Amino acid sequence: MKLFGTSGIRGIVNREITPHLALKVGMALGSYVDGSVAVGHDSRTSSIMLKNAIISGLISCGRDVYDIGLVPTPTTGIAIKNFGCKAGVTVTASHNPPEYNGIKIWNKEGIAFSKEEKIIEELVYNNNFKLQKWDKLGNILYRHEESLEIHKKEIIKNIENKEKYKIVIDCGNGAASLFSPYVFKELGNDVISINAHPTGYFSHDLEPNRENLKNLSDTVKATDADLGIAHDGDADRVGIIDENGEYVDYDVILALIASYVLKEGDIFITTVDASMKIDRYLEKYGISVKRTKVGDVAVAKEMKNVNSDFGGEPSGTWIFGEFQMTPDGIYSGAKVLEMKEKIGNICTLKKEVPHYEIIREKIPCENSEKNEKMKSIADKISDYKDVIDIDGLRVNLKDSWFLIRPSGTEPYIRITCEAKTKEKAEKLMGKCKGLF
Ligand code: MG
Repeated sequence: MKLFGTSGIRGIVNREITPHLALKVGMALGSYVDGSVAVGHDSRTSSIMLKNAIISGLISCGRDVYDIGLVPTPTTGIAIKNFGCKAGVTVTASHNPPEYNGIKIWNKEGIAFSKEEKIIEELVYNNNFKLQKWDKLGNILYRHEESLEIHKKEIIKNIENKEKYKIVIDCGNGAASLFSPYVFKELGNDVISINAHPTGYFSHDLEPNRENLKNLSDTVKATDADLGIAHDGDADRVGIIDENGEYVDYDVILALIASYVLKEGDIFITTVDASMKIDRYLEKYGISVKRTKVGDVAVAKEMKNVNSDFGGEPSGTWIFGEFQMTPDGIYSGAKVLEMKEKIGNICTLKKEVPHYEIIREKIPCENSEKNEKMKSIADKISDYKDVIDIDGLRVNLKDSWFLIRPSGTEPYIRITCEAKTKEKAEKLMGKCKGLF
């Protein structure tokens, strides 16, 4: 069994994700790294239980642990840097339902583990741990408030926000509940917070998308606010509601923020599933687009490779290289606010992003048959010139594209098609289905 999925270790608590497993992961990490580790967790009912098990594992292998408590994932990134840690751990299942939890491990640069996952996996499965004698055990250093304070100060120092805005923040009862509203207040704004009770019980699904942010949208309208900001469960992501109380699509806000952060000649890093709206919009600014595999690790690594300052996924997960390499939903929201103050209202700016229609479908396919199926599709599309095959198959056409990509977790192959009109996108979808 593979322990790590696309975003660390994930599963249902006390079924896949048990304290026993967490302890072993802590011991494996403690055996692998050669320095201190920062450990934080989200607001789930199982998070403290798992965090304590991980910490026990780490100190049993002689590692000093900075226990930073209930914090957003990006605070872990800041803590790793600030305390000079060699790694970090976040106990979170991000936007998954409350019965889930997970373990995400970060390297000393604040980039999620990828190649290192295999090493951890082997240590866990072989029970191969470097347990230490009684006088060589690690220590726990409690740094909850200090970590949040440092993160807050770093954001405030790096964001220009002179005007006073009325902002509604939806924390989804997640890890940002007792943090994000205070950051925006200290930046000098009037803040109304909703779903800011970090109880582990969620009032809506945690992905900050259009369907889940209706309440935020209504609150922005009802209070005549200037902006709505939402986070997922661990606040590495952001969702935006504009001045009219309307949800701003992930790819539209991503195109706008990329044009704001980057300059002519820069490269913007995004993933294979991102809309061509982004390419078309950034062309105007002389910014090129490079695509990677799906996931924040791939984006962060490619940013380093090509020396890019900004990368993001069309899921509200953005990385600002000049700030930190861990995706930061609070900094992202603050950057949108800064862009609004300096460039103009989001409701006006968003009209400048070209419109394309995206449609998605999924075709049932057993996990064991996915490889074979993808090979046969690859053969059938071998005549196309512009094919990206790093994560599924993306074919770029003149004014449209399609992506055929096996799901990492479910028995499906997903198809995404985008074109100028819905009819054209549907025609393309028909063609894609014909390849199966
Ligand atoms: Mg998340």
